Amino acid sequence: MTKMSRDDCFEANPTRMPFEESLERARMLADALGVVAPTETLPLVEACGRVLAAPISAPRDIPAHDNAAVDGYAFAFSDYDPENGTDLPVSARIAAGHPLDGALDRGTAARIFTGAVMPDGADTVAMQEDTYDDGDGVNIPPGLKQGANRRKAGEDVRAGQTLLRPGCLLRPQDIAAIASLGFAEARCYRRVRVGLFSSGDELLRPGDPFRPGAVYDSNAAMLEALADLAGAEITDLGVLPDSREAVQGRLKEAAADYPLILSSGGASLGEEDHLTATLHAAGEVSLWQVAIKPGRPICAGRIGGSAIVGLPGNPVAAFVCFLLYVYPLIQSLGGAGWRRARRYTMPAAFAMTKKPGRREFIRGMLDETEGELRARNYERTGSGLITSLREADGLIELPEKTTEIAPGDPIAFIPFTEFGVRP
Ligand code: AMP
Ligand code: MG
Repeated sequence: MTKMSRDDCFEANPTRMPFEESLERARMLADALGVVAPTETLPLVEACGRVLAAPISAPRDIPAHDNAAVDGYAFAFSDYDPENGTDLPVSARIAAGHPLDGALDRGTAARIFTGAVMPDGADTVAMQEDTYDDGDGVNIPPGLKQGANRRKAGEDVRAGQTLLRPGCLLRPQDIAAIASLGFAEARCYRRVRVGLFSSGDELLRPGDPFRPGAVYDSNAAMLEALADLAGAEITDLGVLPDSREAVQGRLKEAAADYPLILSSGGASLGEEDHLTATLHAAGEVSLWQVAIKPGRPICAGRIGGSAIVGLPGNPVAAFVCFLLYVYPLIQSLGGAGWRRARRYTMPAAFAMTKKPGRREFIRGMLDETEGELRARNYERTGSGLITSLREADGLIELPEKTTEIAPGDPIAFIPFTEFGVRP
């Protein structure tokens, strides 16, 4: 097993799994389990934030008809002199929702309003502000191009086009697209059901009276909130005691009920690691002991058809590992596919040195100076500092080989918004 020096638990260690490999293994675990969520049909507004489970195709063009983009006068370009302009008698009035019966008379114009169907025989619209109507007829000014101020049928969406595919995470603009096709409901995946454990004999639950030596369980509430934002449905299964039999029994039981189980704490080598031992005994281990900071003690694997992630106990490490591993797992098990958070390159507004050989995710704040965003690090590094997470806007990702960062160096910033956490 791994040997560690007492004063530096992060000493370069060839037995630790590189970050990219650990992520690839998490992805393979997700692929092996597939989409675990059943489907349900939801009214559109409730479908927002869910993952679409069935394709949606357009039954007709959107817009369904050529229509006027402005209030004005519709006419046939062939009746018009673009050099000098043209006077045309007005033979019809067409409002939105009231198409003209029959075609526009040749050599005439129609008074038309935004969104009204273009009559047969007209292809161009003059804006009312540019025209002069003397009661007998309208003066269309010179300079209009054929098709001006007309929206074409199907210019947004073509009939038969598959507009949304399964796996699409439905946002308000997607809901608008579905509504524009005339559908009131959408077939969605249900939220992934997640069982959540905390572990450690020192833990008290919020609401319990304090006792000396105790630590309030902050991870359970934090992870429940994160999972909710990630689109999952969490059940808090309580605190596991520091006992191998208890951990094994409760985990196996939960694996029969939940497709994803999270546990925080009890995964470091500083104490007996009951969770990894349970995975070894009752299932499979996919990844453990990763060359990252924070989060080295993370482990993940499966028992039967259930994915298990052992998150570190330290709140900052638990938070970071949730974002890196659990968020994409939830998306994948929930039908949205494996998603890698986007990194935004920006200049560093700090200097720092770093040990090579491990990937670091430090808490970062965004500063805007002279219209440019720069990333600043949170000065203190303790993995227990919830305050640091509250100050931060995201994570600064420092590659394995980096040993030094100077102000102005390009760095990769991952905003918390990538995980549904609003600023
Ligand atoms: P462990 O991973 O069990 O070695 O825990 C590492 C550190 O995280 C210890 O200081 C624990 O007290 C703390 N910790 C573990 N679980 C939680 C939790 N659910 N809430 C807050 N702190 C925790
Ligand atoms: Mg513990």
